[in-house]
Amino acid sequence: MKKYRVGILGATGAVGQKFVELLAEHPWFEVTALAASARSAGKKYEDATNWIGSTPIPAHLKDQIVVLADPKNVDADLVFSGMDADFAGDIERDFALAGIPVISNAKNYRMEDNVPLLIPEVNAAHIELVKKQNWGGKGFIVTNPNCSTVGMISALMPLLKYGIEVIQVTTMQALSGAGYPGVASLDILSNVVPFIGGEEEKMEIESKKLLGTLNADATKIDFAEFKISAQCNRVPVLDGHTETVSIKLKNPPSLEQLIADFKTYESEIANLDLPSSPTPFIQVFDDQRFPQPRRHANLGNGMTVSVGRLRECPVNDFKFVVLAHNTIRGAAGGAILNAELLVKKGLIA
Ligand code: NAP
Repeated sequence: MKKYRVGILGATGAVGQKFVELLAEHPWFEVTALAASARSAGKKYEDATNWIGSTPIPAHLKDQIVVLADPKNVDADLVFSGMDADFAGDIERDFALAGIPVISNAKNYRMEDNVPLLIPEVNAAHIELVKKQNWGGKGFIVTNPNCSTVGMISALMPLLKYGIEVIQVTTMQALSGAGYPGVASLDILSNVVPFIGGEEEKMEIESKKLLGTLNADATKIDFAEFKISAQCNRVPVLDGHTETVSIKLKNPPSLEQLIADFKTYESEIANLDLPSSPTPFIQVFDDQRFPQPRRHANLGNGMTVSVGRLRECPVNDFKFVVLAHNTIRGAAGGAILNAELLVKKGLIA
């Protein structure tokens, strides 16, 4: 199959670097443009970025000249965006207007009526919304959720059939979720910071759109109805957001049935052969000590969501632990999977 030419907007940042790493040997996508701010434009990629990846910068990209993130400078079939939200709104709009599909990690368009907030294993049907966007050409915008929302909602998929009434979640979020340079070392070493600006609100509202239903004329999502309370904390972990979740269900099954549901769950996209789709989608641990971010964040190339400690909850019905890699499943890898689904469904030419 032909390789699609892709640009990375915000290529120098924490998420942008993850795009560069994950796309280096991608079978469908070839990176043709690295774009960032005026601070980086005109420099070789290796000079513009403070590379924090665990593998070296791909050899074919380290000398590539970074361009200013503007559609005039980017020759691509689609772009991935990992830009600072203060600037992403206008720049992503310019790309959509120029006829280039934008697959974004930024928060700016997530809650727009006709913009899919997408996790392919959760709400693939929501991509129909892009057909209702009108940027005057082939351009559109698709977003992925906040990194802490992705793990929690993915882990709820085996339970949806029982009807969700209440979700209470407490997060322990990794430092890479704050970008680079992120949280000052003197604030986080040997410490926990019990506040991440805007994070709790994002988890609470994005969940309802993700689990919502496409309306009859496919113009918006009717939000799901349940109660949700999120408490978000930054912890001294490099990668991987760990979350403890307690849920109340409308028709709770037995604990044995619940565990069986988790262990046998197959996502609706499992048979689409998308290159970034992990096997398994959800890894269930019996060992009570697991999952742990240092050991399990990279399962399934960072795309598997890990679940453990499934047990009854004396306040709600059940509680468990979930772990997802924030810059892969929660950001760049999730966005790449979104683009793969759009290609598979014929929405990217
Ligand atoms: P980051 O490390 O601070 O990187 C920000 C990127 O935005 C850099 O490449 C920067 O380029 C670029 N940028 C800043 N101003 C710009 C401008 N005026 N024009 C074009 N590019 C500009 O942040 P990050 O953690 O990678 O996050 C990037 C986005 O993804 C944010 O919107 C964030 O909320 C979202 N997100 C992050 C995560 C995560 O786990 N980190 C997860 C989900 C979503 P320069 O180097 O040239 O300044």
